[in-house]
Amino acid sequence: MKVLKFGGSSLATPIGIKNICEIIAAEPTDSVVVVSALAGVTDMLLETARQAAKGNEDAYRDNLRRLQSIHFDLINQIFEGRTVPSALKKGLTARLGELQSLLYGVYLLRDLSWRSRDLILSYGEISSALILSSLIEESQLHDAREFIKTEHRNGRNHIDLQLTSQLIARRFLPEMGSGRVHIVPGFIASDSTSGQTTTLGRGGSDYTASIIAATLNAEALEIWTNVDGFLTADPRVVDNAYTIKSLTYAEATELCNFGAKVLYPPAIFPVCKSDIPIYIKNTYNPGGPGTIITSRSREDDRRAIKGVSSIKGTSLITVAGLSMVGVIGVNQRIFSALAANGISVFMVSQASSENSTSIGVRDVDAAAAVEVLNREFDKEIATGAMYPMRAESGLATMAIVGENMRHTAGIAGKLFRSLGRNGISVIACAQGASETNISFVIEGRHLRKALNVLHDSFFLSEYTDVNIFLCGVGTVGRRLVEQIASQQVELMETHRLKLKVISIASSRKALFDLEGIDLSRYRELLDQAPESNPKLLADTITGLNLYNSVFVDCTASADIAAIYPQLLAHNISVVAANKIAASGPYALYRSLKDTALRRGVKFLFETNVGAGLPLISTINEQIASQQVELM
Ligand code: ASP
Repeated sequence: MKVLKFGGSSLATPIGIKNICEIIAAEPTDSVVVVSALAGVTDMLLETARQAAKGNEDAYRDNLRRLQSIHFDLINQIFEGRTVPSALKKGLTARLGELQSLLYGVYLLRDLSWRSRDLILSYGEISSALILSSLIEESQLHDAREFIKTEHRNGRNHIDLQLTSQLIARRFLPEMGSGRVHIVPGFIASDSTSGQTTTLGRGGSDYTASIIAATLNAEALEIWTNVDGFLTADPRVVDNAYTIKSLTYAEATELCNFGAKVLYPPAIFPVCKSDIPIYIKNTYNPGGPGTIITSRSREDDRRAIKGVSSIKGTSLITVAGLSMVGVIGVNQRIFSALAANGISVFMVSQASSENSTSIGVRDVDAAAAVEVLNREFDKEIATGAMYPMRAESGLATMAIVGENMRHTAGIAGKLFRSLGRNGISVIACAQGASETNISFVIEGRHLRKALNVLHDSFFLSEYTDVNIFLCGVGTVGRRLVEQIASQQVELMETHRLKLKVISIASSRKALFDLEGIDLSRYRELLDQAPESNPKLLADTITGLNLYNSVFVDCTASADIAAIYPQLLAHNISVVAANKIAASGPYALYRSLKDTALRRGVKFLFETNVGAGLPLISTINEQIASQQVELM
């Protein structure tokens, strides 16, 4: 048997529902189908309950009406002109009526306890499961509260695994073999002592599905969502991101703990224990390969790095002081104090000299964390043995993930080299001995660039992007544009290089397009572009902070040559047909070469000598091989 879980985005549209029905119908074995609430409904329920508790009658009633129409609009669209089955209409009206009464109670009492909140939230999944069950003939609708049991501890619901497993087995095992489809609302549960409705926490439907799959020893757990699976990076930031074919449980855990929203992390453990594969599939592209998650990497997917993930809005708190060296228990005090105050730490890095520990927390927790730690170490701070806590906010934390990086030498080297060459400095880093993940902290403003750089350098991308900034559209510049346009495909095919001309500037104007300028009409576009000047041009280019950037100077202008130092200092390579910089004062030439060397970028000027004959490169090669003695 299989367990299939459909997320809210899959259930929210008639086409999604139609696909779900076809996916379930194509299933040859017994299946348990777990559903989320329709997309956005849990958030709306929460907001409605809050408005009711605040006494905002108009706001909560408005929201309630919207919730009602989301559900009724969907079923009307599904049945499109045909009569909606009366059982469905009545059932939904009754459920939403109960919800209305509950909200009214909250409004009158002006009180929203966690119990009432959970009960109100349960109506999202109760309603969606009702809708789906009425569309699947012969399906059986179950009330998850009868077999998913929780205990309330430390302000949270924890699943009572033993009781839940017994109840699931008792409910479903006798049914297996009948080929029937069982529909279960995800996310909702009940308290094992009081029987009151509870929830498993946001994203908890995956957890419901995973526990059922593990208990029934399912052949697979399928998570159906609205993306093709786990992606190598966030596609909103990295154009070249693509679906990862296979992951191990450990890799999937790392990726979803760190930004990817495809799977609720706690849902991995129950199926991992029983080695049940998880398939992540797209309801809107059911034929796509998706991602398969199992215990071992597949033979055909042995890359060292599987994905790059990130979280924005992170802060680094540094606990430092000479008194920390060799003292036992400092870390224990740090983590106990933070845990006691409900502050979650997602990265730790400690220098082996033991005189500083850096702790990564979310920006929203940073002020509280500083306060808690200053309080915890107040005596040490008063005597000067430790320094007051320091928080650096507005940072981003990134991770490269892959089990095959274990025992592969050079991964960390490549990681830091790629970042360094692009002018991104690493503020802190951590790698566990499991070598599945290297995490590091950078300035938030570099995140986009860093994600792209790493995606490219670990060959996760099909192509390496080269971002070109061209200045000068005289004879040389024009010819270069023509050459780039005619060679673009060839360079992609034979060298995996994707040349993107981001900017073209003349002596008066500058045209920019981050997607790459359409070279067939650059003349006309440049005519319409805004006025510019060398300083503005340099500031705009460095301000874009793109990775793998090359500035090409096809002018003969001293003002343009004067912006090279700024560009090189921002890790932008410079290629000059312009002879001024390389034939001017030797000190200037030397400093440009030195900056390029220090920054790991290039300052090239082959066309300055012999009208482009390959003289400079030949001489350089001869010097390198010591065949001639030249300065
Ligand atoms: N509906 C719940 C939520 O939005 C649970 C889920 O969808 O997994 O968090």
